[in-house]
Amino acid sequence: MHHFQYRNGRLYCEDVPVEHIAQEAGTPCYIYSHATLHHHFTVFDGAFSQLPHLTCYSVKANSNLAILKLFGSLGGGVDIVSGGELFRARQAGIPPDRIVYSGVGKTREEIDYALSEDILMFNIESSQELEAISQRAVALGRRARIALRVNPDVDPKTHPYITTGMEKNKFGVAMDEALESYRRAAELPSVDVVGVDCHIGSQLTEVQPFVDALRRLRALIDRLAELGLETRYLDLGGGLGITYDREQPPHPTEYARAIVRELQGLNCTVIFEPGRVIVGNAGILLTRVLYTKKTPKKQFVIVDAGMNDLIRPSLYGSYHHIQPVVSEDRPTETVDVVGPICESGDFLARERALPQVQPGEYLAVMSAGAYGFTMASNYNSRPKAAEVLVHGDTFHVIRLRETWEDLVRAERIPEFLQ
Ligand SMILES: *Cc1c(COP(=O)(O)O)cnc(C)c1O
Repeated sequence: MHHFQYRNGRLYCEDVPVEHIAQEAGTPCYIYSHATLHHHFTVFDGAFSQLPHLTCYSVKANSNLAILKLFGSLGGGVDIVSGGELFRARQAGIPPDRIVYSGVGKTREEIDYALSEDILMFNIESSQELEAISQRAVALGRRARIALRVNPDVDPKTHPYITTGMEKNKFGVAMDEALESYRRAAELPSVDVVGVDCHIGSQLTEVQPFVDALRRLRALIDRLAELGLETRYLDLGGGLGITYDREQPPHPTEYARAIVRELQGLNCTVIFEPGRVIVGNAGILLTRVLYTKKTPKKQFVIVDAGMNDLIRPSLYGSYHHIQPVVSEDRPTETVDVVGPICESGDFLARERALPQVQPGEYLAVMSAGAYGFTMASNYNSRPKAAEVLVHGDTFHVIRLRETWEDLVRAERIPEFLQ
């Protein structure tokens, strides 16, 4: 469900025509719908209302301060993967006791920052990280609450849509090493073992892998109890998929039903780290057609957004639906929608049937709210796009378009070259 709909042939975000935003804020431009974000968060969070739980939105999906502020105001916490994300979360007023910190490469500086903020929990990804966090907690006179991120090795054969074999990836601690790591953690000074964590992948379109992972984690929790280690938090990560094209992922309520069933008799607070499912379909990338061009082999639509603005098609071959902002009857043609970047890999869609478009008109790249702006770069010295939040019949620029000045602000020409 989202609030990007046509009215009288014009695309609206909530009650604002997106052309109006393009005229005011320029293109390329990310547009997010407040009502959609609000709805997605409350549906997800509400689906677990019968459980003690905390929904820790995954900041890396979309880290704009306004969006973090919204989820915080709805009672949400955050899952962070860097010191920069912690800084953002604190700037947006997320209380430290609703922040969990994942990621395989936490630096000493980042660990110190998180300890000084007294965040809820570190999700530990290796035994060396565990030792490092203990040392820093001792040095700073703090206590580190930790969970181990375990790798439940959900069988990719039965679930082929999980594209990485779980045991060969870099995340987490293998299941059969977990007990030993927990034993070690329990002995370490200034460390409180409080939880068990996993995150099995992204854009999952079935419930079963989550259930399989959860069963393995429950077995681990039982073993920990035998060691006298009480699990206060069970963190199930994120990963629930969305519809980009024809995928039919489970609705959050269906996901919740399956999870709640598996959690019978377990006495702890469950943490979720949803990212994509909350923000993915709440945002679009608005772009303008610059030129159309026919070569002997192909028809191109050249637009003012490129892989530096939205890298998912280039990076993962991802599908994003693309539609003209003005909907009218016109013949369709098969085109490549490409950006201005000097790379053949710079495309938003390939071999796509689109209505015939004209230079100057606007196109909406749908489902761009997650891993869109956050993965943007300045490649080809392109300023990053503006971000706009629509709220009913008003809209607000929540990130200014970068300027050419911004591009060079941090650069210095050393004296010997002057
Ligand atoms: C990326 C990530 C998430 C969010 O994943 P989605 O697929 O966007 O829900 C959650 N937890 C961790 C540790 C992550 O790295």
